[in-house]
Amino acid sequence: LSERLGGVFDRLTKAGALSEDDVKTALREVRTALLEADVSLPVARDFIKAVQKKATGAAVTKSITPGQQVVKIVHDELVEFLAGEGEPGKLKVDNPPAPILMVGLQGSGKTTTTAKLAKRLKDREGKRVLMASLDVNRPAAMEQLAILGQQIGVDTLPIVKGEDPVTIAKRAKTQASLGGYDVYMLDTAGRLHIDQELIAQAAAVRDVANPRETLLVVDGLTGQDAVNVATEFDDKIGVSGVVLTRMDGDGRGGAALSMRAVTGKPIKFVGLGEKMDALEEFHPERVAGRILGMGDIVSLVEKAQQTLEAEQAERMMKRMMKGQFNMNDLKGQLEQMLKMGGMQGMMSMMPGMAKMAKQAEAAGMDDKVIRRQIALIDSMTKKERANPALLQASRKKRIAAGAGQDVSDLNKLLKMHRQMADMMKKISQKGGKGMLKQAIQ
Ligand code: GDP
Ligand code: MG
Repeated sequence: LSERLGGVFDRLTKAGALSEDDVKTALREVRTALLEADVSLPVARDFIKAVQKKATGAAVTKSITPGQQVVKIVHDELVEFLAGEGEPGKLKVDNPPAPILMVGLQGSGKTTTTAKLAKRLKDREGKRVLMASLDVNRPAAMEQLAILGQQIGVDTLPIVKGEDPVTIAKRAKTQASLGGYDVYMLDTAGRLHIDQELIAQAAAVRDVANPRETLLVVDGLTGQDAVNVATEFDDKIGVSGVVLTRMDGDGRGGAALSMRAVTGKPIKFVGLGEKMDALEEFHPERVAGRILGMGDIVSLVEKAQQTLEAEQAERMMKRMMKGQFNMNDLKGQLEQMLKMGGMQGMMSMMPGMAKMAKQAEAAGMDDKVIRRQIALIDSMTKKERANPALLQASRKKRIAAGAGQDVSDLNKLLKMHRQMADMMKKISQKGGKGMLKQAIQ
């Protein structure tokens, strides 16, 4: 994904400006990238539509590159998409005993997450929690929960062989009331694939327990399929929140985006490992960065930017070596100076300029002065910029007035240009090629 986006932003940055076409081209790639990160097609489509709206309306910021700007817009929109209403990491556990129903496919991490959440409720909110396994298909699953309970110091409902899930749920409810528990958690059985029996069972348990929270546990590494699972569970049982597990893995977490968009349900927690502490509240920014491979992209954008600058510098050097140095070149140099922090930066770009740089610095060439000089060049016509020899008195007056400055200011700029052009010629004649090349590399 990051490679793909890197390529896009490479191209974008090279284009130099953020036109509507650029945005469209970039977003087409972003869309493909999202799909590759296992975001479902309609979700990717909606997301792109929303971003396009924002990106097209957005003012072009001068201080960042177009690539960075698109990254930022995509990232911000993604965060907004992912963030739900309500506080992530908060569960409704008032009116004790508050039932929490855990649903999801087999192996998604329900039992592990049940224990993690119980520990969290106990440690952070001082709740007394009772856990009950309703997984009658696999006796080992019930023991698994009991072992985890011992490990974290949370009670589990005693196992009674031969009971069905609804009976266990009733018993858990009674036990929770009598035992003075604040919360009781029902860890249901899963299947490898969703089927009607599983759904019917979960629905029956729901009717008995009337849960305050029904948390759908989803493996964050699964993609498309996860959305179908979520939709089915939400339609038939009603889900109040999602827990994404295995976010410690290599996956990009595209499922998070699909899940959010399709169910509209908040992602409440993220599982980050097998240990009982490896659970944290959902941070939209983190997952957004992950889906986009943000770190990678930002560095790619930086790299593209450096490449661009090097290319510009090289192009300019080539022109200079031919003894060409017009007002456009001067403007490029002045802009470079602004970007690189004044004269010092320019010296590192251009050998043989050290003396002039010192002079300019002594003459008080700070950013303000440089900007005024750029303004003068901006008020020249294309022809004048390409051929400064055209600049006679009447043109000078017009240009100076256009930039809100005096003709004497323009004369100073022209003098500087002449000096620099002379310098260029000297360098190119004196076999400065080697020096220039060195400077580029
Ligand atoms: P269940 O069938 O839905 O109850 O799934 P389990 O809770 O038994 O989890 C299945 C496997 O996934 C176990 O080996 C867990 O340790 C592991 N697991 C659960 N959550 C996470 C997680 O967030 N990260 C990682 N790496 N493993 C997890
Ligand atoms: Mg289980």
